[in-house]
Amino acid sequence: MQQPTPQPRRKPRTSQPLAAACMTATLIQEFNPGTSPPPVRIANRIFKLSANHLDKQCYPLTETPGIVHLGLIDKSAMNDEIIFIDGRFQIMSADIDVRVCEVGLRDGIQGIDQFFPTDKKKAWIKAEAAAGVPEIEVCSFVPPSVSGQFVDCEEVVADALTHADLTVSTLVPNLRGAERAFATGVQKMNFVLSISESHNQANVRCSREESLERFRQIAELRNSTPENKKVTLGAGLATALGCTIEGQIDPGEIVRIAERLLELGADELAVSDTVGYANPAQVRDVYRLLRRHLGDDVLLSAHFHDTRGLGLANVHAALDEGVRQFDASLAGLGGCPFAPGASGNIVMDDLVFMLEAMGLKTGVNLDALVSVREIVAAGLPNEPLLGAIARAGVPKGFAAANVAA
Ligand code: ZN
Repeated sequence: MQQPTPQPRRKPRTSQPLAAACMTATLIQEFNPGTSPPPVRIANRIFKLSANHLDKQCYPLTETPGIVHLGLIDKSAMNDEIIFIDGRFQIMSADIDVRVCEVGLRDGIQGIDQFFPTDKKKAWIKAEAAAGVPEIEVCSFVPPSVSGQFVDCEEVVADALTHADLTVSTLVPNLRGAERAFATGVQKMNFVLSISESHNQANVRCSREESLERFRQIAELRNSTPENKKVTLGAGLATALGCTIEGQIDPGEIVRIAERLLELGADELAVSDTVGYANPAQVRDVYRLLRRHLGDDVLLSAHFHDTRGLGLANVHAALDEGVRQFDASLAGLGGCPFAPGASGNIVMDDLVFMLEAMGLKTGVNLDALVSVREIVAAGLPNEPLLGAIARAGVPKGFAAANVAA
């Protein structure tokens, strides 16, 4: 098949005084070009860079957890100037290899009629943050007329923001939703667009072009003030790996839409198997294709559903392709009301077990995570809770990756 011509992405650069830019960041060790990036210290916490392609001296310039701006030292300047890379790179806390993001409070409950009580949402977030989950998508800023599940967004976000080490993200469907989300001080916003035109029409009742225009408006608002610029903007490529209406998806369309979203201002892209059609070989192909066309400095994450039992196999394939950020839902809650049969995100507890068993540190305490299921069960007594680890327990002799053997 003829693929679109690769276009290296070039980002504009601007100059800023060095002193102002680097106040809170310290490089822990010298950075030899060609080697892995060194850890950096921000506000007395040590982080390491997750991208291994960087071969320049870099300083993080903001403190947004998870994502930072990096400054590129211009060695030709006289130490009083720093050249900005106008982009964001993911950094990880030094004790994390893979970042897991809880989406149960949004994707997991959006299709459930029964209202999940506000106090139980807060308790879920608090307990999962305490278990070490670094990022939680806590709600969707849809109008109450669209979903009664998210009428308490402002209250839930305000409470979630009290947990110090947690990145609080929300879904925003349009400019109005984004305005509400910016007003809460949320740290990250996710926008979803389907690669399948038919699914986009069914899911958000507009064309992909109209969705791109909505995203452009949101990105414009994000860039409009220094405070808004701190907010990370994620874009989900829904149905990228298959669609219940259109079936197989043209990989060229994934690249085309991904490039548009990046041009408009997306900081990261979540390749989403919305309806659970993907297999590991396909996952490999799609990430390789995107890497080839988008370059190495684009943060690609994964949002997989386990509808046909291949969720964790697909995670493993994505890991092999360098993906280090995964969405999952505690107890496998989730689905899509416009994707029949698409029940269940991959199970967060099983994902954490697999990663830790493979020696990849998540920063999550598995026992504490599994116990959070009790809060979910209490809030949604009629929903089936999935998960193999909760059912079978960990193997004898299991040791988490961050526990010395
Ligand atoms: Zn999903």
